[in-house]
Amino acid sequence: MSSPSIENVVIIGTGCAGLTAAIYTGRANLSPLVLEGTLPGGQLTTTSEVENFPGFPHGIDGFQLMDNLRQQATKFGTRFEQAAVLSVDFDSSPRKLICSDRVILAKSVIIATGASPRMTGIPGEKELYGGKGVTTCATCDGAFYRKMDVAVIGGGDSAAEEALFLTRFASKVYLVHRRDSLRASKIMADRALAHPKIEAVWDSVPVEVEGVQQGAVSGLKVRNVKTGADRVLPVKGVFVAIGHIPNTKPFASALKTDDDGYFVPELGSQVRSQVPGVYVAGDCADHIYRQAITAAGMGCQAAIEAERWLAEHGA
Ligand code: NAP
Repeated sequence: MSSPSIENVVIIGTGCAGLTAAIYTGRANLSPLVLEGTLPGGQLTTTSEVENFPGFPHGIDGFQLMDNLRQQATKFGTRFEQAAVLSVDFDSSPRKLICSDRVILAKSVIIATGASPRMTGIPGEKELYGGKGVTTCATCDGAFYRKMDVAVIGGGDSAAEEALFLTRFASKVYLVHRRDSLRASKIMADRALAHPKIEAVWDSVPVEVEGVQQGAVSGLKVRNVKTGADRVLPVKGVFVAIGHIPNTKPFASALKTDDDGYFVPELGSQVRSQVPGVYVAGDCADHIYRQAITAAGMGCQAAIEAERWLAEHGA
């Protein structure tokens, strides 16, 4: 039986960080292998217009931007494969990535696995998720709620953006937030709160998504944290936008993570992990900036680090 080949560099993830790392390592003739998970293109594929990525004065569709990056990576010799990394052995050399259907050997690894939407965990949320009225993506599902009332849970930029996007379709958008002011940037908050279709439901936490019996959302019960009073919002759609959880679990025993699960890079670097030749990039290692452009920047840094490491240790 022939032994499995050893990759120069394996990049895990196809968001902005992963694809930028692929463009750089591809251009360095390293023939990168990119492992693609369940959301090809990452979080930007679930966004509508990206207005703040430099170089696009008129904005660019999130899906289009990711497709452009993918084409650019492919042009420089990147290979793409579907694989879910379940665990790793970073004590071995080459490094081992244990996937559901095989083991991949790599001299260097760039982890750019991003982050997944956080859920509230309230009754009804799980039961009615996906096609039954609970969702985390207005861009994907907003059009299903034409002329209906919907609720967005959260107070950050995502919640404000989702609420504004939903005004294109919905008759009314309740913005349910647990405090009395939004965390979102001023421009987004002002835009959302000034919109005639958006009603802010302040100081309120969601307690139950109603409609499990019928198999479709019929309302969202919320509780005012100051008065304790409950109220049912008569909505057909519930959009959860309360932040994200980093996708770092398969690597957590091998690399340092903080209390929230984000990778903690070595001092003096944004991308160098505790294991030589293994780098982290993008939202899985960044809980502060979390922007497409900062993720791309980290992908670039990780690629340059990997390239130098391989040059020193034999590519
Ligand atoms: P975020 O800034 O972390 O905001 C999460 C929101 O959800 C907060 O308002 C938080 O409340 C609330 N929340 C958290 N857990 C909750 C729970 N269990 N129940 C109820 N509410 C809960 O997350 P984000 O909005 O996804 O934004 C993430 C990053 O991406 C930010 O840096 C943001 O600026 C950026 N972003 C930018 C854009 C843009 O520029 N167009 C668009 C989207 C996101 P508290 O406020 O009380 O903590």
